[in-house]
Amino acid sequence: MDGLTHDSSILIIGGGTWGCSIALQLARRGYRNINVLDASEFPSPIAAGNDINKIAEEANPPSEDDSDENYMWNRIHQMSMHAWLNDDLLKPFYHSTGFIMAACGDDAYKHVLEYAAEEKAELVPLKTADDFQKTMPKGVLTGSFPKWRGYWKKKGAGWLFARGALEAMHTESIRLGAKYVTGGLQGKVDSLIISSSAEDARTIIGAKTADGADHKADYTVLAAGANSDVLLDFKKQLRPTAWTLAHLPMSIKEARIWGDLPVLYGVDRGFFIEPDEEKHELKICDEHPGYCNFVEVDQEVRSVPFARQQIPVDAEHRMRVLLAETVPHLADRPFNFARICWDADTVDRFFLIDRHPEISNLLVAVGGSGHGFMTNPAVGVIAVDALEGVMELRLQKMMKWRPENAVGRDWCATQNRFGADGKIMDLSLVKDWTKIEKPNERS
Ligand SMILES: Cc1cc2nc3c(=O)[nH]c(=O)nc-3n(C[C@H](O)[C@H](O)[C@H](O)COP(=O)(O)OP(=O)(O)OC[C@H]3O[C@@H](n4cnc5c(N)ncnc54)[C@H](O)[C@@H]3O)c2cc1C
Repeated sequence: MDGLTHDSSILIIGGGTWGCSIALQLARRGYRNINVLDASEFPSPIAAGNDINKIAEEANPPSEDDSDENYMWNRIHQMSMHAWLNDDLLKPFYHSTGFIMAACGDDAYKHVLEYAAEEKAELVPLKTADDFQKTMPKGVLTGSFPKWRGYWKKKGAGWLFARGALEAMHTESIRLGAKYVTGGLQGKVDSLIISSSAEDARTIIGAKTADGADHKADYTVLAAGANSDVLLDFKKQLRPTAWTLAHLPMSIKEARIWGDLPVLYGVDRGFFIEPDEEKHELKICDEHPGYCNFVEVDQEVRSVPFARQQIPVDAEHRMRVLLAETVPHLADRPFNFARICWDADTVDRFFLIDRHPEISNLLVAVGGSGHGFMTNPAVGVIAVDALEGVMELRLQKMMKWRPENAVGRDWCATQNRFGADGKIMDLSLVKDWTKIEKPNERS
C-alpha cells in the first residue's frame, strides 16, 4: 500500500487463525508497529482454529498449465505445506499420518471419485469393512462400515495440532514485537473508523472497541473470521456458516492404541482424528452443508454468528451414527465438550484477501470457507504480500474483492457439501440442544 514502511502502524482485527498468521508474517518481515485486537482472551473460545486438530493435505505441485482455480489451490497448499514441513516453529504440529476419504451416498461418492481422479498421490481403494478396518491397528475400527466406499492416501496428508500451532504463532509474533489487546470490552471491535473527504474518498483510520477507545493505525487488516461480516458491508460475499464438534473422553489405555492413525473422513458422515495427547479426547465432527442463523437485518435476511458451547441434538445424533458405523464400542459414550464453530463461506469457497477497492488502507483477509486452517501459513504470506503490493497476479485474480459473484446470492446453496439432509440448516429454528453433563474445563 502507498507509503507502507516498516514503521507504519498496522492494526489487525481478529487474533484467531489468520490474524495470528498475518501478525507473525508481518513481524518476521520486520514490521515494528503491529497491534492485534481480539474480542476474547487468547486463545479465543470462538476462534475456528482454537481446536484440538484439523485435517491437512498436501496437494499437487502448481504448474503454469493448471486452470486458475487449480493453480491457486496447488500454490496455497504448496506454500502452506512447505511451512508445516520445514518451518521450525510450525513443523512440530503436523502429523503426516494419512487420510481416508470415503462416502456412503451415491452423490457423495461421486465427489470422492472426482477427488481421486485429480489426486496424483497413490491411493488405496477401500470397498469392504475389512479394507477399512485394516487401515488402523486391531481394535480401533470395529464397525461394519455399511455402504462406505473410498480411498486411503497413505502419504502426503494427516492432521495438525491446531491449538498448539495457534499458540506458537501467537507467542512468536509477540516475541518479535507484535502487541495483542484481547478480551473484555477493550479487545472487542464494535466498528471501523472510516473518514470521508470532500471528494467522497474513504480511508480507514482504525477501529473503535467496545470500551469506547479509538485504535488508530496507518493500515488496518480485517481478519475477524465469520464475525468480519458484522463489521463491514461485504455485499453478500460472506456467509457466516457454522459446523458442529464434540469431544469424547478416552482412557489412557484406549488412547495408547489410537496413536498415529490416518484421519477418517466420510464426506456425508463426518470425521474424527486420533485423540489428543494431553487429555485423550476424540474430537468428532458430523458433516453437513452447514448451519446458518438467519435473522432479519436492515430488512434483509442474513446469517449472524453467535457463540454456544452446545450443539443441536440432531448433530449429536449424526455423530453417533458415524461412531456406530465405524467404532460402535464408543457410540454411546457421553461427550464432555461440544460447540458450534463458525467460518465464513464465500460464494466459490475461494479466500477473499484483497485491499478494499473503495476504502483506502483497508485489507480484508476473510472467507476460510472450511479450509482455512491448514492453509493459514500461506494466508499470512499472501496477506502481507497484498499489503506490500507484491501479491502473485494469479492469486490476486482469484482472491480479489468480487461482489459481482454474490449478486442474488442463494443463502441456502450447499456449495458442494454433503451429509444430513443435504440442506443448509437454520440455527434459529433449533429447539433441542445437547446437554453436556460432565463438561471438561477446556474453553
Ligand atoms: C468445525 C470446523 C472444522 C474445520 N476443520 C478444518 C480442517 O480440518 N482443516 C482446515 O484447514 N480448516 C478447517 N476448518 C476451517 C478453519 O478452521 C477456518 O477456515 C479458519 O480457522 C478461519 O480462520 P479465521 O482467522 O478467519 O477465523 P477464526 O479462527 O475464527 O478467528 C477469528 C477471530 O476473530 C475474533 N473476533 C471476532 N469478532 C471480533 C470482534 N468484533 N473484535 C475483535 N475480534 C473479533 C475471534 O475471537 C477470533 O479469535 C474448520 C472449521 C470448522 C468450523
